[in-house]
Amino acid sequence: SAQQRGDQLLPRYVRVNTLKTSVEDAVDYLKREGFMYQGRARTLDDLKLKGKTFVQDMHIPEILAFYPKKDFHDHFLYKAGHFILQDKASCLPAHVLDPPPGSVVLDACAAPGNKTSHLAALMKNKGRLLAFDLDAKRLSTMSTLLLRAGVTCHQLNHQDFLKVDPQAPEHREVEYILLDPSCSGSGMVCLREDSDTDEARLTSLASFQLKCLNHALSFPRLSRLVYSTCSVHRQENEDVVSACLQQNSLFRLVPVLPQWPERGLQPLSQCLRASPSSTRTHGFFVALLQRRTEADAEVT
Ligand code: SAM
Repeated sequence: SAQQRGDQLLPRYVRVNTLKTSVEDAVDYLKREGFMYQGRARTLDDLKLKGKTFVQDMHIPEILAFYPKKDFHDHFLYKAGHFILQDKASCLPAHVLDPPPGSVVLDACAAPGNKTSHLAALMKNKGRLLAFDLDAKRLSTMSTLLLRAGVTCHQLNHQDFLKVDPQAPEHREVEYILLDPSCSGSGMVCLREDSDTDEARLTSLASFQLKCLNHALSFPRLSRLVYSTCSVHRQENEDVVSACLQQNSLFRLVPVLPQWPERGLQPLSQCLRASPSSTRTHGFFVALLQRRTEADAEVT
């Protein structure tokens, strides 16, 4: 099918885990193994790779791109935790949230933890990273992943995020939240065909997503939040964000990566979308919300 062909055209993306190595060292290692480095990509066409060639991504510097079928599961750099096997689109949420070292960060729906490990890398393992998930099996996969990645600043909690008390002393200080809740998965190229719109399911997912988002915005010291899904449905993306903003006038949308080509559906062009055709990734949605300051209030 066209979608399967689309999948084959997606580059194999790898995130270099900066807790363990640097992009330079990873590139040198690969060159010594016979890979051919073509520098930093500048256009979407530079991400069409063949054989042993590879590039550094143009948007997210810790990402390297390889030809579509390259498999790193048996590679030393993966086994040693230097490489995290993650689609480029799924690296956007942590990259956009960008919590500084020393900050207090909450990952609301965290397992299996690729984004958590990315957050820890951006924080240089300094600060506090509170991670929650409901699913015990996924949490156990997550512990293995975080151990291999050398993450040490986290605390894993087997708990329903909707029941996490924002006023509890251990949560009151949270400044950054990444919210990547369960979604239809309709953006995943390989799943797309069986995820045709089941309206009842979408409505129930959207209502869960909105509850999570409203709950997240109730953390008293929250300054920035990223909301993301791997869905292409407006109901789970722009509609959830719009509904939430209507209920929370203390937060506003911030433009995400202005140079990114695909934007949220109108009128939410501050948000970004990703897709095989326009960004050579799976389908994805990212919104960045920020608490309004007095300066914002003066402008509006
Ligand atoms: N952020 C993860 C990553 O990058 O590896 C992927 C998260 S996945 C899209 C959504 C997760 O939300 C699932 O692991 C699911 O178990 C979890 N989840 C669903 N409902 C939840 C709830 N009420 N509280 C916490 N986690 C929940």
